[in-house]
Amino acid sequence: MKSIYLVQTERGPLRGPLVSWEQSLSNVLHLLRLDSIKRKILVFSLLATLIPSLSMSWFYSLYANQFLTEKVAEELRNVTAQNLRELDLWLKERTYEMRVFSSSYEVSENLEKTTRADPAQGSKSLALRRLNDYLKSVREKFSDYEELLVIDTKAQVIATSTGQVSALSLPSDWQKRAKADIPILGEAYRDEALHKIVILIAVPIKAQDSRFLGVLAAKLNFQTIEEILNRSPLGKTGQNYLIAKDGTVLAVSRSSSPEPLTVKHPFTTAHPPSELEIASLEYPDFNGREVIGALRRLSELGWGVVAQIGKEEVYAQTARIRTLILTICLGLLLAIGLTAYLLGLTIVRPLDRLTNGAAKVATGDLEVQLPVVSRSEVGYLTEAFNDMVARLRWGREELATINKTLTEKNKELQTLSITDSLTGLYNRKHFMEALATEVARAKRHKHPCSVMMIDIDHFKKYNDTFGHQAGDDLLKKIGGIFTESLRSIDYAARYGGDEFIVLLPEVGSGGVFEVAQRIRERVDTEALSSDAKVVAITISVGVAAFPEHGENPETLIASADGALYHAKRSGRNRVVLATSNLQPDIEVAK
Ligand code: GH3
Ligand code: MG
Repeated sequence: MKSIYLVQTERGPLRGPLVSWEQSLSNVLHLLRLDSIKRKILVFSLLATLIPSLSMSWFYSLYANQFLTEKVAEELRNVTAQNLRELDLWLKERTYEMRVFSSSYEVSENLEKTTRADPAQGSKSLALRRLNDYLKSVREKFSDYEELLVIDTKAQVIATSTGQVSALSLPSDWQKRAKADIPILGEAYRDEALHKIVILIAVPIKAQDSRFLGVLAAKLNFQTIEEILNRSPLGKTGQNYLIAKDGTVLAVSRSSSPEPLTVKHPFTTAHPPSELEIASLEYPDFNGREVIGALRRLSELGWGVVAQIGKEEVYAQTARIRTLILTICLGLLLAIGLTAYLLGLTIVRPLDRLTNGAAKVATGDLEVQLPVVSRSEVGYLTEAFNDMVARLRWGREELATINKTLTEKNKELQTLSITDSLTGLYNRKHFMEALATEVARAKRHKHPCSVMMIDIDHFKKYNDTFGHQAGDDLLKKIGGIFTESLRSIDYAARYGGDEFIVLLPEVGSGGVFEVAQRIRERVDTEALSSDAKVVAITISVGVAAFPEHGENPETLIASADGALYHAKRSGRNRVVLATSNLQPDIEVAK
């Protein structure tokens, strides 16, 4: 069993051999430009169609051709055998006929009369005429015979069917063969007088006492031979040939072939004439066309019959079926290629959408909602993706709500940390920070600023009279008067107990005094009730301005506090402006 081990890489643990195997395959696919799923599906589908179809086509062609070749060879053999049988029979029949003619009384008797040493002149010419007439009548009755001749022992033509003596070449041993009663068969040749290809056949003529008188010769035409050959050519391109021993074409079944006796048949050029039968052979015909042929020879004459058929015709059926298979293959390829392409799209397009969606989510866009167009694995993946993005969106909304609440709470806390809970004014701590900042700013810009220290007169008594809650209400009420009487840039704070402090930026000693006076008057004039009793409420105010009464927060407050002290001492319900040496009653307003 193969072991799978873990390898720690920069990206984390991976399965070693599995990854390297996958990596190698991926590299190969990359080299073949088959990275995309669409292409992989397309190539796989085409191969799945192409390989079985072409294999089938190839096997079919192979076996069909083999089968056809064997069948055609057998057919060709049959044709040659039949042609040869008929040719043999034709020759035998002609030989037999010649024997019958030669043994007829008309031939032997009249020949003898003409060759006698001292015949009567009249009887010789009569004999000759009768011989010629006989030959002529035979020639007219039998169409295979072009010319019949009677030749005496001295090779003299005694009589002919044509009436005129023509050239005749007998084999050198003709006498010997004739005497031995063997039929003489010559080579085929073109007879110039007849303008035809003929073959010479001769049989002996004997007297009643068996004396050898001469031979009866005949020039046989090839008319019947051509008819025989023409009876059985195979198919449309089939052709039968009669060839001589040396391969010269003697007769053909169809006229489209070359002129007989002018060429040698291509079949025989590679084969010795001694071979009696050659089953089948492929060779180019006279016109260069590829053919399949078979040869069979006639043993006595050495003649041969070649039967052949065009290769194209033989394999036309298989070629047609192969073309049909290829056309079907092409159709299948197109149909499957298109289907694979569309299938690829149904996988790749949702994946593309998923990739783009993931990229959007990565940039923080959680409004992505992908369409689920199928119930496939990719469809489920898309659903899971949408679900994941929805959860992320809800999470982010929840977080935003929490953040908002926290911010509000922080703000509230911050407000509380700087506010006096009872009056809503700033608390002492925040006021001190604001004062330090404002004094520093005033110093920097050489601007004025001022402070008011305010204390309610006889508040203890009020408290004791009307209760603590009424005291609280009064504190709130006076805080409200401060807020209403001041600018938005002013700071009013509860300094402690019934004591308040106010910071007025950009306001000098003159201005602060006036503001304080206005506030004091407003408090004084407003009658505050408790338990239906009308009680007058007053405040004492000490004011100090920067820089003349103090150049820092502490001295400024101390000056204002000192002025307040003087206000109390001098009878309350008044405003006292501090002096640099804290002289009381320098400026008192009531
Ligand atoms: P003076 O004119 O000299 O200022 O006389 P006073 O009675 O106001 O004397 P003082 O300022 O010393 O008295 C302050 C009183 O304020 C004492 C205390 O009972 C009361 N007090 C302090 N803080 C609160 C508070 O938060 N609520 C209420 N109702 N009373 C407070
Ligand atoms: Mg007081």
